[in-house]
Formats: sequence, structure tokens, C-alpha cells
Amino acid sequence: MWDLLLRGGRVVDPASGHDGPADVAVRAGRLAAVAPGLPPQRAAQVVEAAGSLVTPGLVDMHTHVWHGGGFWGIDPDAVAWRTGVTTWVDAGSAGAYSIDGLHRYVAKTSAARVTALINISGLGLVAETGEHHVLGHLDVDTAAGVAARLGDFVVGVKARIDKNTVGPNGLEPLRRAVELARRLSRPLMVHVGYGPPHVADILGLLGEGDILTHCASGAPTDLVSDGTLTDAMRRALDAGVVFDLGHGSGAFDFEVLDVELAEGVRPIISSDLHARSVHGPAFDLPTVMTKLLAAGWSLPEVVEAATVRPARAVGVDAGTLAVGAQADIAVFAAEEGGFGVLDVHGGVRTSPLRLANTATYVAGRLLPPVAAEPPPPWVPLSDAQHNAEEARRAETRGAAAPRLSRPADFAEPFPRGAST
Ligand SMILES: [Zn+2]
Repeated sequence: MWDLLLRGGRVVDPASGHDGPADVAVRAGRLAAVAPGLPPQRAAQVVEAAGSLVTPGLVDMHTHVWHGGGFWGIDPDAVAWRTGVTTWVDAGSAGAYSIDGLHRYVAKTSAARVTALINISGLGLVAETGEHHVLGHLDVDTAAGVAARLGDFVVGVKARIDKNTVGPNGLEPLRRAVELARRLSRPLMVHVGYGPPHVADILGLLGEGDILTHCASGAPTDLVSDGTLTDAMRRALDAGVVFDLGHGSGAFDFEVLDVELAEGVRPIISSDLHARSVHGPAFDLPTVMTKLLAAGWSLPEVVEAATVRPARAVGVDAGTLAVGAQADIAVFAAEEGGFGVLDVHGGVRTSPLRLANTATYVAGRLLPPVAAEPPPPWVPLSDAQHNAEEARRAETRGAAAPRLSRPADFAEPFPRGAST
């Protein structure tokens, strides 16, 4: 007997090369069968998915979910249930001094799966920036010791390398991050922004499997130049450095992306979702995925770049609907049309699809709605963003209010005299 059967959707699972109609059966939190025409009588619960897109639960490789623990964090459960993102990789919100808390109070209590890249700075991202100004906070032995105690929760290392985060310390924070990553035998994710340090100097220290995030940002001037990749970017591509989108609030430029795609870069699609990007212009991972559709990628390419490819890049067991895998599943209504999508500089493109998540399962369990907390006082919102948040809160309250009033609306009659 299966616990759940999703019937008749278009199953897109690039990890197993599947794209076509199929049913998906779940037993005991794992995928039990994926094939057309599975017998519904074998399932305790049958969910009709005809007309829907069924994918592996999405893997967002660049997020900030240490909510209550710093400047950037958001609650993953308030986003996961309505977006299909079942695996969240926190990208350096916590370093050695607070990653125990991220593990204990977020990862262990969230319905979504949460893993982390440990920040080379013990301070992590408790503040907006500046975590590498005091090198004493960047102790490789300390970070390695803390990471070792947390086992598979720590899937890599993170360092933001731009002029505001490093202060007077140049490339030294990056050298320490590289040393930590090699010590842990895990990938290093490096954020680039306004230099110095410059992208060419940063990339020179990265190796195969390390990750350059914000790869299609308009901020660094030396990702692309004169309509082509810079020499440093081409060398990094050839050396097997992984490129990650990391959309965020300021790191996505269609013109940079166009050049990279034309030159053979195949970025992983991640949102860099945090307190300042969750209200737009990133919003969530499915929204960022539609921007790659607008840039010309096919739906299977986009799904692959938001499931199995990020899972492999950081070595997490997720991102596929293969039989035996954990039953993390996303269901979308894929609306066809022409939908405007934005970069962060006002560039507008048209996506041929909009991905509206209609159900999200973690280990075969449907995630329930979770309302988002209001933004913290240090996050500025435009009037339009503020009004949208107010409207969402009002709609959420309205949707939760009781509305049935007739005895006939209830499954069992109320027995006379029965009260407690
Ligand atoms: Zn980030």
C-alpha cells in the first residue's frame, strides 16, 4: 500500500532523464514508484495532478534562514510551503560562534530541510556587512572544530569578498576561507560585489567545485567585458568553478547573464533569499527560475539548475524523483503566456511560463501554510511592497476565518446531550 499517489502530472526529473506524464507513488517518506498508469486502489490518498507540473522538491543553494539570528534571516517555513523549495542551503549566515544556534533553532525545528555553509568569520552575517574587518574572528581551527561537531549539517564554507566586508584585509579572508574549505573537503562559496578585491584575483584562488555566487551581477566590472567573458572568468570556467546566480536584492543583470549564457556558462539557479530580497525583486526560487526561462532556457534545463545540479554542487541527498529517494516533491501550475520579469537594474524580459506552486511535500508530507513574519525595522520597503505585505496579511487572516454555518455542512450530527 502506498501512502500517497500523485496522478497524471507532467513529471520533469532531469536527474533521471524523465520528462512526461507519470504518476508518483510515496511510501514511508520515500518514492516508491514513478510511472504512468499506477493503480490508484493501492494508495491510501490519491491527489489528481493532471495539468500540473511535478518536479523534485527544489534545492535553493543560496539562502539566509537564520531568522532571529541576524540582519538577513527569514523563516524558511513561511516560504517553502508555497514555493516547492524543500532543501535550503543557508549561505554563511552563521560562523563558528553561532552556527550551533542555526542548527538547533532553525534546522531542527523547520519542516523544510536546512543545511549550511559555515562563514569563515565567526561573526557570520549578524550585521549587514563588515564581518572580515577583524581577522581575529576568522580562525580556521575554531571554524573547523565547530563544523566537525555538526557533521553533515555543514555542507561547505562561505565568504563574502567585497570592499565593504573585507575592509583593510584584502584577500586574507579569502585565503583563510580556502584553507577551511580544503580542511573540511567541502566546497567554498565566494560572494563577489564591488571590489577590490577584484574578481580576477578572487578566481585565482578558487578550484574545481568551488562556487562563485552572484555570477550574473552587474556590480563587479570584471565578470564580463565588451560582450564576452573576461580571461579570469574563462579560466575559472575551464577549471571547473561552479557559477551560481544568487539573485538577491542587487545581483542580477540580464545583460551580464546573456553574455555568460552565450559563452557556455550554465549557472545554478539560486535566489539568495533574505530579508531584503523576499519582498522583491527575487521573491522566491520559482520566480528566479522564470527569469532563466525568459533568457531562453528550456523548462527541463531550469528545473535541473534548481534541483539536482545544486544538490550535487554541495553534496546533499536531494533533487531527484528517483525511486528510493526521499519524497520531496513540488507541484506547480505552469501557466503559459507572456509574463514580465525584472532584473535589479530595471531590465524587463518576458517569460513564456509562470510557475505557481500548488503543493509542496517533504518526505511525503504536505507542508501546511505558514504566515510570514512582518519584516524587521531595518528592512526598507517601498509603498508598493508595504501595501502588498498588508494585503497578503489581510488575505491570510480572511482565508483562515471559519465560514460554514449550516448543520448540513458537518460530517457528523452533534449528538444530543454530548458536551464536555
Ligand atoms: Zn547571500
